[in-house]
Amino acid sequence: MTDRDKELKKIRDEVVACTKCSLASFRIENNYFPVIGQGSHQANIVFVGEAPGLSEAKTGIPFCGAAGRILDELLESVSIKRESVYICNILKDRPPQNRDPQSGEIEACAPYLERQIEIIKPKVVCSLGRYSMNFLMQRFGLQDKIDSISRIRGQKFETEKGFILIPFYHPAVAVYNASMKEALKEDFEILKTYSSP
Ligand code: URA
Repeated sequence: MTDRDKELKKIRDEVVACTKCSLASFRIENNYFPVIGQGSHQANIVFVGEAPGLSEAKTGIPFCGAAGRILDELLESVSIKRESVYICNILKDRPPQNRDPQSGEIEACAPYLERQIEIIKPKVVCSLGRYSMNFLMQRFGLQDKIDSISRIRGQKFETEKGFILIPFYHPAVAVYNASMKEALKEDFEILKTYSSP
């Protein structure tokens, strides 16, 4: 086990035992899994969604439902293997009815994401959706550059931590909308430069 594996395992153990917000008791009542993250601990590219949905909470695997199938298709379109990237969310537990995360939940959960990024040290962090874009841009010193996602999607932003942040539409927008899928495919082209080992 490498140091990264150990540090990421520590995060897993902490999330499993976490009682900082009510989403943990919602998870336990429903026999859900926490959805911590999946992929290479040496990834050059980290994807960050908002929160697990039902399929994810039932399996513990991020982006394994309808939006995940789109993400898989997008990765395949640029010849990037899902196992070579790291995929996670801001919240590690599913909110009831997939409602928006509350500020207390983010405050409790975001430090796990921040540590995941710190440990993996990716070249690129990709936000998936407006919510994740706003959170990451605020958190990593880019608050002045926040704009509508339709204007800044696919653009590269240098962060104070040394990685590049690239906002993407959330793959869920393409489930029933072919033109959004084309826009996402176009944007994913930028990732070819950063393909993980
Ligand atoms: N949507 C997200 O934002 N994250 C997931 O893991 C699944 C769907």
